[in-house]
Amino acid sequence: MLLLKNLVSLPTSGYIFYMDTNDLKTYPNPILRKVSEDVGGVNDATLALIRDMFRIMDEAGGIGLAAPQIGISKRIIVVSLDEKHFERLALIDPVIEHASEDTGVMEEGCLSIPGVNAEVTRPSKIVVRGMTRSGRMVEITAANLLARVLQHEIDHLNGVLFIDRLSEQEKKRIERELIVPEAARFSEKQTLL
Ligand code: ZN
Repeated sequence: MLLLKNLVSLPTSGYIFYMDTNDLKTYPNPILRKVSEDVGGVNDATLALIRDMFRIMDEAGGIGLAAPQIGISKRIIVVSLDEKHFERLALIDPVIEHASEDTGVMEEGCLSIPGVNAEVTRPSKIVVRGMTRSGRMVEITAANLLARVLQHEIDHLNGVLFIDRLSEQEKKRIERELIVPEAARFSEKQTLL
């Protein structure tokens, strides 16, 4: 009896722990507006956090994730692009060293703002400097989708969301979509009652 209880309770508490510390924080959670702290180096805790970030991003089907999105206010981002030369990258304390004058428009979404997509204008090429998982400083010249994802994720570290970068017209268009998740939850509850 006791043994059975233990077997049942262990995975359950593990699950609760996971949900409490690692689940995706969604808009308008205030942690998404905080400026994250510098990390400064790589240790076991950093590597464990990066592993968690990759796992959560994969489970959610994302191509990028920033630590504040799982409730950790540290300057760490992960990116996973389905490109042969550039599969999985984790960057610690990433800094945009240079951004091109020419810009591009792309539709963006965010794991922290489910159900909302909008066109965002951003520099089309950037140079980013940061530390990899092995503690090496790297400089990455990025264009297209990679430049896009890196800028979106680095914005997260500064408390900036893609909805802040929209034209007035796009802002107006998504205003209603931003309150839909709340409304959907409410009606779901009502159905249950
Ligand atoms: Zn995002």
